[in-house]
Amino acid sequence: MAKLKSSGNQQKKSVLSKTISFFIQSEYHAYLVGGYVRDTTIGIEHRDIDLVVEGDAIRAAKQLNKKLKGNLDIHKKFGTASITTKQMRIDLASARVEKYASPAKLPHVYPSAINEDLNRRDFTMNAMAMSISNENFGEIFDPFNGMEDIKKGVIRILHKESFNDDPTRIFRALRYKNRFGFKIAKTTKALMTEAINKRMIQRLSDQRILNEIRLIFNETNNQDIIKDISNLTSLKIRKKDMELLPVLGSNRMYFYLSKLKYFNFPITSDEKRLVKDFHDFGNTITRLDKATKHSEIFAILSPISSEVIDIMPAVLPKLRRNVRIFRQLEKKKLFVTGNDLKRLGYKPGVKFRSILNRMRDWQLDRKIRNRKEALEYLRNIKH
Ligand code: ATP
Ligand code: MG
Repeated sequence: MAKLKSSGNQQKKSVLSKTISFFIQSEYHAYLVGGYVRDTTIGIEHRDIDLVVEGDAIRAAKQLNKKLKGNLDIHKKFGTASITTKQMRIDLASARVEKYASPAKLPHVYPSAINEDLNRRDFTMNAMAMSISNENFGEIFDPFNGMEDIKKGVIRILHKESFNDDPTRIFRALRYKNRFGFKIAKTTKALMTEAINKRMIQRLSDQRILNEIRLIFNETNNQDIIKDISNLTSLKIRKKDMELLPVLGSNRMYFYLSKLKYFNFPITSDEKRLVKDFHDFGNTITRLDKATKHSEIFAILSPISSEVIDIMPAVLPKLRRNVRIFRQLEKKKLFVTGNDLKRLGYKPGVKFRSILNRMRDWQLDRKIRNRKEALEYLRNIKH
């Protein structure tokens, strides 16, 4: 295992060194920025690589990818590109200035040099760059003293309009605070509270809020982040529900989404189903706890997603028995099907469904014991 891990790291390093050697040999002025510089300074393993190119990042990405042979995605509108290799993702952006025409909306962007590019960033610790160009390789650009703040373990915005310009930075600050165990600088915290009180988060689109929620639940300590978000913002969750998060496993994000009213998050239909199941979760658990007949257990659990059913005993251990019974019932082959009913002359419709359900319930509750008894009953009620 240790061997595997180290060979993974080797491959990661080779993507990085291929990238660096490409830029050293090229005519581009390119810089490692953001997470890479921050994480290396902190002394932890970096995740993905963010690069800024003074000039045409898309053209540079196309050339770099000839060496890396990854998957190239181009976002022409934003002047950005990303290369995904087996080991990591490399994001390339053209150095740019951002102008916010109105708060919480996406900015207009213009080409720039690296120093101006750093001005548009979220926090001092993310506003550092390291040149990977031949002429000044290794030169660090740290116009906001990010190194100092990393040493002190402080998260600090670059200017006082930062949270108004882009309220997603509120979520980002709380994410980094919990990921690194850093503190939010006093003035930054005050400006953050001010932006929250001015309801800046509500100005974000549901899509952008959802992106942030997804990023939060990708973090290992997502519960601590949710706790902060719940305490500070209007995306609240009750204490009782917060205590449930640890036992909810990897689907806990949908539980959280089910507790947030007034949003219409653009999620897939499978995800919508999970949110709905979690919305009814408390009610379902109470009903399941009271259910004694097999047909009741089946009726309660059959509409619920399997993942959500699996979580129930972790929330209330005495449900283990009814969940186990349900798993057995699920496997049962039904004595009669819709085709049998059709053959006997029943027309599909509401009554048809209710007869089928009745036959299923009787079978599960052992009121009928085999197919012969079931068909006999059907013939009798028909005639
Ligand atoms: P992570 O380890 O979470 O990927 P990261 O710093 O690499 O951390 P990204 O979301 O990948 O974060 O963004 C890369 C860089 O882009 C950040 O370091 C930051 O400089 C800048 N950035 C990202 N989002 C914002 C934002 N909303 N406002 C300002 N700058 C941002
Ligand atoms: Mg990154």
